[in-house]
Amino acid sequence: MDEIKNDFKSALKVQEGIDQPSVINPHLSKAIKTGKKNILTVNEYVDGILNSNRTILSKAITLIESSLSEHQHLAQQIIAQCLPMTGNSIRIGITGVPGVGKSTFIEALGKHLTANNHKLAVLAIDPSSERSKGSILGDKTRMEALATDENAYIRPSPSAGSLGGVARKTRETIILCEAAGFDVIFVETVGVGQSETAVHGMVDFFLLLMLANAGDELQGIKRGIMEMADAIAINKADGENKKMATVAMSQYKNALHLFPPTDSGWIPEVTMCSAYTHDGIDNVWKIITDYCDFTKNNTYFIAKRQHQATKIMLETVNESLKDRFYADESIKQLITKYQQDILEDRISSYVAAQLLLDNYFKEK
Ligand code: GDP
Repeated sequence: MDEIKNDFKSALKVQEGIDQPSVINPHLSKAIKTGKKNILTVNEYVDGILNSNRTILSKAITLIESSLSEHQHLAQQIIAQCLPMTGNSIRIGITGVPGVGKSTFIEALGKHLTANNHKLAVLAIDPSSERSKGSILGDKTRMEALATDENAYIRPSPSAGSLGGVARKTRETIILCEAAGFDVIFVETVGVGQSETAVHGMVDFFLLLMLANAGDELQGIKRGIMEMADAIAINKADGENKKMATVAMSQYKNALHLFPPTDSGWIPEVTMCSAYTHDGIDNVWKIITDYCDFTKNNTYFIAKRQHQATKIMLETVNESLKDRFYADESIKQLITKYQQDILEDRISSYVAAQLLLDNYFKEK
């Protein structure tokens, strides 16, 4: 028995007189402590994205969404390297009030596209996060068939933040998705707030989903949102609803006639579909491709993208000026002080604002 014990050469056996190494790889423990375990190099991220590696794509998007400045710095380098490989997709904004059937529609159109060899990325803008704490696409039960489709990629909306911030993250996410080979990008938004304008500023085509006869003729959709639409699709045109959808179609066609002509020269289309039975879904896609052909022929397509690019530059400057200003420690302290001064009538809001700006720019 003793012999066996002595011959037992375990790797775990401690030999006296020899310094024993730590059981934990020191580099690993350092990585865990600093939280750097999952950070790859810029080239690793870019290679992964260009090879359509979804895990790496998701990690890179997480960097875009992070508020840590080192993550932001890395994200910007990745975006810069991916940028030349982008731009070859169709970017489509999809909006409509909650309950109109956006996720059902996106799934129906999405499956139609992946069946026709397209690769689809579905993103969202939901800064208000009025629904389901967090994100409108965060609910796992939405778009189940699309979520398991290998030619589709669904990314939940970044967690709540300012509209400008969320819009920037979504725009940057579009770039990475295009570099990863997705040729159709959907950006979903809830058609009730300001996010439509932000989405309109980052897509080629803007689709408004509506319901027939849902009480109020315009269903709380503001005129401005209707004016932005390149097409309106009356959803849930199935069963008994079909008749009403046909009536609604002509009502909306008439309503659109009253709007000023669009810059693109395209006359917005009104159609109906059922995300449920898939009737009319292929026609919605035909309208979108007709629009692309039309605007590529008259050069509006590229002009719009160039215009968006300039606007994005200015918006990025606006956003980062604001972020830096409010993150500045002395500004933070001054704001607290002036708030009190304003309350006690020692200073006016305008003078305080000017002093804050003077103070910030004097230091720079
Ligand atoms: P969202 O809030 O706009 O994303 O709407 P959902 O896609 O979650 O759909 C809301 C409800 O409408 C769900 O119960 C869907 O099953 C239903 N729905 C969606 N599309 C259709 C459709 O084309 N026809 C019918 N009859 N019901 C639909």
